Amino acid sequence: MFPADSSRPSHRKARQIALAFLLLATVSLSFFLSRNLLIKHNGVESEQLLQAFESALLTAIDKYVYFPAILTADPRFQRMLRRNERDDEISELLNRFNQAAGSDEIFIMNAEGLTLASSNYRDATSFVGHSYAFRPYYADAVAGRTGFYYAVGVTTGKAGLFISAPIRDNSGRILGVTVVKLDLTPQQASWSATGNRIFLSGPNDIVFLASDPAALYRALRPLEQRVMAELKVTKQYGSAESKPLPAETDAWSDAPIVDVDGVRLLLYSRQVVGQPWRMHRALPVADVNTMAALISAACGGAVLLLIVLALYYREARQKRRTEHRLLKVIEESDAHQRAIIQNTDAGLMTLNERFEIREMNQKAAELFGVEAQEQGASLDPTRLLSPWINAPDGEVREAEGYRPGCASFPILYCVSLIRTGPDREYLLTVHDVSELKAAQASLLQANEELEARVEERTQALRTTQEALMQERKLAAMGRMSAAIAHELNQPLTALVSYVAMGRLYLEQEQKDKSAATLDKMDALVQRIARISSQLKSFAGIRSVDIRPTALQAVMRYVEEVLEHKLSQQRSIIRTQIPEGLQVIADQHMLEQVMINLLDNAIAAVKSAVQPEIFVAAEPRGDKVMISVRDNGEGMDEERMRHLFDPFFTTKTGSEGLGLGLAISYNLLQDMHGEITVTSTPGEGSEFTLSLPAVKQHD
Ligand code: ADP
Repeated sequence: MFPADSSRPSHRKARQIALAFLLLATVSLSFFLSRNLLIKHNGVESEQLLQAFESALLTAIDKYVYFPAILTADPRFQRMLRRNERDDEISELLNRFNQAAGSDEIFIMNAEGLTLASSNYRDATSFVGHSYAFRPYYADAVAGRTGFYYAVGVTTGKAGLFISAPIRDNSGRILGVTVVKLDLTPQQASWSATGNRIFLSGPNDIVFLASDPAALYRALRPLEQRVMAELKVTKQYGSAESKPLPAETDAWSDAPIVDVDGVRLLLYSRQVVGQPWRMHRALPVADVNTMAALISAACGGAVLLLIVLALYYREARQKRRTEHRLLKVIEESDAHQRAIIQNTDAGLMTLNERFEIREMNQKAAELFGVEAQEQGASLDPTRLLSPWINAPDGEVREAEGYRPGCASFPILYCVSLIRTGPDREYLLTVHDVSELKAAQASLLQANEELEARVEERTQALRTTQEALMQERKLAAMGRMSAAIAHELNQPLTALVSYVAMGRLYLEQEQKDKSAATLDKMDALVQRIARISSQLKSFAGIRSVDIRPTALQAVMRYVEEVLEHKLSQQRSIIRTQIPEGLQVIADQHMLEQVMINLLDNAIAAVKSAVQPEIFVAAEPRGDKVMISVRDNGEGMDEERMRHLFDPFFTTKTGSEGLGLGLAISYNLLQDMHGEITVTSTPGEGSEFTLSLPAVKQHD
């Protein structure tokens, strides 16, 4: 009925306009058609009605048609006419006849039209003595015809139908005229009684009988001058002017319309048989219009109802179609979902609100060995896997799956909510992870094998390293032996020459000189002893006693030992060691290291303008950092490179053996610590020791 996209606003608007136009057209057309039909229908009905009224009228008149002629046969009238004078006896007779016949009046005129006798001879309005020769009914009768003439009485002013007939003598000569006047107002009253508007018009269409007084003696069409003049002469309607009623023709049906006292009336007319009269039925145009309006409103209502029904039907059809389409989409989506579920590699099961298995896909059935006949029944998941947890939280859980006749197998499962509401539904997804687990196990084994191989290789490497170390140690020993030999050779050579000199001085008995030589020898022996003692500690023959050691106590001892060296310049050392700070170390070893570092620092600042040595300690993580900083001569790269080599010294004479830092390095190794150094030539150096801190609970 309408295009598919008719719901778009512009189309909807156009549709509304079309519907409004259709409604308007229906109402207008039905008004026009029904009005014309009503006018036509009223015409048929009016024809029947007018026929009935006409026959009643004619019947009433026909009773009197021959009455005047009958009266003419009475010889008493002829005698009176021959006498040609007024005769009251005859008038009385006529009066009696009139009453018996029920006519209005009966009167007799002589051949000249003068009334000689009349039924109303006693009334003030008596016709007797009046001439009615000007009336057409007189002319008709005198001409030998029966006259019919409706007019307003000239004397009485009362309207009526005059029927006249000539009175002849035996020779046939016309002696006079008998006239019977009929009152037609009872007819008029009978029309009004039926509720109809009926007009009776004579020649020239002038209404002479009307149920509506306003229409009386009015012309239904414009009158010619001649007719007007004639009416003045005949005084047919007395003094009435017989003005024409405003008339028109209905535009749609061509029906004649007259306006009576402001009421527009449709006229249905019929020629009265045998009379020059027309009978009219008048119907108010407004009634026809109202009726037509009612019919058109009903038609409009019907069309509106049809439109509403059509729209309703269309809506319902569209709704049905949409529902159908929706159902199809749902079915397709269900089928699609089922296909996905069936073809997926995971085991899928749907659970009802009581967590019972309702459906499962092929994969799940195969996995758990569930037979086809079992699948319809509500299965408990605990039959298939364990441990089972009723928690639709989407969490992936590990469990063991069971299959009849087989060993349990590892699975991963997950429960999620897929439909809310009273028919809650869950989806249980299961993955068989046997292969994965097997792969994991083989991976683990491969890993272990790899680790074992790495260990093997590491062992081999370590052995190689140890061999290398051994080699390096031997080489070092070689170098050291050479160094020691060199160091010892010098004093020993000197000793040999001093012994020889001593002998010579003894032989010469030069006591002073031999004593001085002995002193020199003693100094050389002491140097050798010092080298030996240093080498002893260097050889690693030491027992390590590691324990929490208070740094402030260590510093106190170090300052005591160095006191003689610092006697003049004691103030150059500043310390900043937090109260109670401890390290894990061997106290004697640490003291030895610190003495050595400070000894070197004192030597380094000797030539400084404003010598300064700063000793600080602070915990850092699980270590304690102890630093010795001086603003002395500093070290170049070359010195830095050999700093920790045994016997490396820049000190002259007996001041240094070049073993202090080498020994300190070894002592720190024994205490699981480290020694590092930074230095800038000309600015100073900083040695930093890193030793394990005392743990909180220690
Ligand atoms: P020694 O003190 O007997 O020379 P060490 O092993 O203690 O032996 O020192 C080796 C050398 O390192 C020193 O001779 C000196 O040249 C250098 N040295 C050590 N400490 C410092 C320092 N604080 N400033 C400059 N040079 C230093």
